[in-house]
Amino acid sequence: MASQTAREWLGIQQFPAATQTKLIELLGKLKQENVSTLTILVMGKGGMGKSSTVNSIVGERVASVNAFQSEGLRPTMCSRTRAGFTLNIIDTPGIVEGGYINEQAVGIIKRFLLNKTIDVLLYVDRLDVYRMDTLDKQVVTAITDIFGKIIWRRSLIVLTHAQLSPPDGLNYDDFVARRSEALLNYVCLGGRISKKEFQKNRIPVVLVENSGRCRTNDGGEKILPNDIAWIPNLVEAIINVATGGGQSISVDQKLIEGPNPNNRGKLFIPLIIAFQYLIVKNIHRSINEDLKKEEKPLWELRDLGLAERKF
Ligand code: GDP
Ligand code: MG
Repeated sequence: MASQTAREWLGIQQFPAATQTKLIELLGKLKQENVSTLTILVMGKGGMGKSSTVNSIVGERVASVNAFQSEGLRPTMCSRTRAGFTLNIIDTPGIVEGGYINEQAVGIIKRFLLNKTIDVLLYVDRLDVYRMDTLDKQVVTAITDIFGKIIWRRSLIVLTHAQLSPPDGLNYDDFVARRSEALLNYVCLGGRISKKEFQKNRIPVVLVENSGRCRTNDGGEKILPNDIAWIPNLVEAIINVATGGGQSISVDQKLIEGPNPNNRGKLFIPLIIAFQYLIVKNIHRSINEDLKKEEKPLWELRDLGLAERKF
């Protein structure tokens, strides 16, 4: 909760020495940039590994992990401090139910976020998914509807289950690139991000392996099939997004209740209708004037009683 006092970040001491050194170095980078608080919001469908990723980052079991997707509806926030720096990380339940966006879950998340500032969004999905479905686009659209498309300037795509052997003998990096492109495509569609905008500000994709069976290097750090120590890599990517431009999102009442940030153009709809009405009215008037000017045939004048009866 927002009012919860932040505890000392003890989880950092659970990491192998090499990871700790890297994390402390990264926190130093944040200090240089005068960033003393970082609030990370974690969203995505259920069962993607959101809560597990939260636990992996904090290095403590702070979010409950559930293999059977019953996550409850309430988000949770965990706060940890270290040497004057505060890390807030908000875990949310999946917002999809029975193939549709669960508006109730979206409403609860929105209210939970009231008066909080989101610095970075982690959009969590799985690497080991071979087929995209339109649900991904729906979830991205729902997120965009809450915060506006600017949220994607402060986002990272996190792909869990990254310790895998790609199918059909595909090379690991090629598989990751293909899966990332497929998902990014949907993020651009759902986030209404044009190709040009995307090329200017690419959304980073970061790999995660939360399993206790994740391979480790000589220093005991958890590594991916491409030998990257993924925890410091993920934290570095988060910090790069937080310090690399784009605005943090302040969630206020207006954002929660106000017009959908992506639909602000719709405020012009009454103006457009009034404009169209004026044009149509003008056209009508000129038609009527033309009709008046038109010479009327004798029989019509006669019917109107305007022609002299000649019989
Ligand atoms: P959430 O619903 O998105 O919060 O997902 P959870 O973190 O609760 O994870 C759902 C299930 O997937 C749990 O059984 C986790 O142990 C498992 N899981 C999560 N991340 C990973 C991962 O990176 N690798 C593997 N192998 N399992 C994972
Ligand atoms: Mg969860």
